[in-house]
Amino acid sequence: MSNLLDGIRQYESEQRPAYAGRFAELAQSQSPHTLFLGCSDSRVVPSVLAGAGPGDLFVVRNVANLAPALRGDGLSGTPSAVVSAVAYALDVLGVHDVVVCGHSNCGGMRAVLDGNVADPHIARWLEAAESAVHAWRVSGPMNPALSEVDQLSQWSTRLQLEHLRRYPAVRRHLEKGTVRLHAFWFDIADGRMLAYDEERRAYRPAIEVLESRDDRASEPASDPASAAA
Ligand SMILES: [Zn+2]
Repeated sequence: MSNLLDGIRQYESEQRPAYAGRFAELAQSQSPHTLFLGCSDSRVVPSVLAGAGPGDLFVVRNVANLAPALRGDGLSGTPSAVVSAVAYALDVLGVHDVVVCGHSNCGGMRAVLDGNVADPHIARWLEAAESAVHAWRVSGPMNPALSEVDQLSQWSTRLQLEHLRRYPAVRRHLEKGTVRLHAFWFDIADGRMLAYDEERRAYRPAIEVLESRDDRASEPASDPASAAA
C-alpha cells in the first residue's frame, strides 16, 4: 500500500463489503476476548498476528509496548492511558486474556539502550523500561543469540506484566481467576510469534506455550460482574 488514500480506496472496494455483516452485528456492542498491548511499530499488526477480525481484540498501542508501574496513589503520578484502558477492558468488556507484545528491532528499546533520548516526553515515557535494563544486566539475556536491543526487549515485555499485576483491576481479576496474562514477542525477520514460558524462563513459539498452559488450567471463569458494553 503506497499511501493513505490508496488504502481507503482498497478498504471501500474490498474489505468493507466483506465485513458488512460482521460490522452490522457489532454496531451496538463489543465483546472482545483479548486486550492486546503492543508497540506502535508499523510492523507489529495485532489483528494480523492474532488472526483476529473486528470485535476480537481491544487494542492499546504505545511506544515500546509499556505498561508504566503505578506511582503514588496511581492517579496523579502515573500516565493513565494504559491504566484506564486495562480497567475498561477487564471491568466493562470482560476480556479473559491480556497480552503484552514486544518485538524485534524495537526503536523504543534501542533508545532505552542508547540512553540519549533528546525529547523529554519520550525520555519520561521510556522510564517504564528501566526495570528491564536492571534485570537484563543482573540476570543476563534470555536468549544470548539475540542482539542486545532484542535481549532488552524480551526482558521489558516480560516485566510489563509485573507492572500490570499491580493495577487494581488486574489484581482483582487475577484473584477471581477471570484473567490470564501473557508476554508475547514477535520476531519480525521470520514473522513468528513467541510467548514467554514461565516454567522454562524463555520465549518459545506462542502456540506451544498457550497449548501447554491450557493443558494445566482450564479457561478463566466468567466474571458475572462483567457485561459486554
Ligand atoms: Zn517497538
